[in-house]
Amino acid sequence: MSAQTAKLTSRCRACGGTLIRQVNQFVDDAGRLCWDTGFSCESCGDGGCEDFGSGETPGYIRDALLAEHGPSRLRLAGPVAGMVPVLKVLREELRVSLPQARELAGELAGPGLTGTSAEMEYLNLRLRRRGIAAEVRSDGPEGG
Ligand SMILES: [Zn+2]
Repeated sequence: MSAQTAKLTSRCRACGGTLIRQVNQFVDDAGRLCWDTGFSCESCGDGGCEDFGSGETPGYIRDALLAEHGPSRLRLAGPVAGMVPVLKVLREELRVSLPQARELAGELAGPGLTGTSAEMEYLNLRLRRRGIAAEVRSDGPEGG
């Protein structure tokens, strides 16, 4: 399934060396949006799993993924018969109001919604389950 990884560096609390923290976001086999983080120290070998969860992803993880990979874009693959299922998916998954869902649905049908690769793949999966064809494209790393 779709997974994306980014690396952040900080200082090791144990030895003061360079600590590399790896953050991941992915859609698991059950179709859930998940994230986890782990760390390892280049100097003393300290390391391990740090944190994990599903659903809403902590901001620093999203920021790291977006900075390293750039946003992905989810768009409807073609005209849909009715927007009701689209609005349902958006309201359920993003917990937005109906006017907000309408706005987002407009973006989906137009320029596309952007987010991390795993988030867009996750929404894509939800739309597909309701019979709506959409596609995810990478915008690539941020240029100038
Ligand atoms: Zn260390």
